[in-house]
Amino acid sequence: MPSLVVANWKMNPKTIKEAKKLFAGIAAGSKNIKKAQMAVCPPSVFLSSLAGSSKKIKMGAQNCYWEEKGAFTGEISLAQIASLGCEYVLVGHSERRKIFGETDESANKKLLAVLALGLTPILCVGETEQEKEDGGTFEVLKVQLEKGLEKVAKKVVNKIVLAYEPVWAIGTGKVCEAAQAEEVCIFIKKLICKKYGRTAANQAQILYGGSVRSDNVLRFVKDAQMSGVLVGGASLDAKEFIKIAKEIDF
Ligand code: PEP
Repeated sequence: MPSLVVANWKMNPKTIKEAKKLFAGIAAGSKNIKKAQMAVCPPSVFLSSLAGSSKKIKMGAQNCYWEEKGAFTGEISLAQIASLGCEYVLVGHSERRKIFGETDESANKKLLAVLALGLTPILCVGETEQEKEDGGTFEVLKVQLEKGLEKVAKKVVNKIVLAYEPVWAIGTGKVCEAAQAEEVCIFIKKLICKKYGRTAANQAQILYGGSVRSDNVLRFVKDAQMSGVLVGGASLDAKEFIKIAKEIDF
């Protein structure tokens, strides 16, 4: 399976003009990427202006609501996201959990709703600095994955992308050692194997996220054998984002 490189722009950039310029830069650079698959998750207000402007770059939403329609002011539905041609939806990002009170239960409802619409959820999991210091990394991941994947049928489990994003590495410049990323990758595969069988475990797509840059990306995709990366800060610089994709263009 080719590497997957996903940009999470978070609440950036400031204007649609800047968003179009950034996207155009990434789209231009993507012409030199042969194998890696690329996706950009801009703020939802920019999605309709950017969707459809590149054949190579898939679009993703940073969030969604699980209900079909109705009185949910401020939320966006999956049918709305799908109608723009989006393929990916981030679910359970640590900023959603920490700042907006998202839980494993709400992440699970979103994940099931994303799957029901035939889109690909990217379920984000990861431990905080304190949890890591307390030796709780694997317990935290186990709970987040088991609850996040509740009621997911075996036949759709491979439609899910998992992203290991240690919270202490997001936006901090601190990066995970290859050995830890590899250990986590194996741990996640074992959990998937136990729940869904060996084939599902072998096919699981597991990304790394947390201060990824072009000079450290190989550590995760080559050394730790992860399937790709979820990139925050560095995806706001088109040249750097393309450099990251180029490094893992296999
Ligand atoms: C993220 O927000 O998913 C992320 C990985 O951010 P950053 O690359 O800035 O650490």
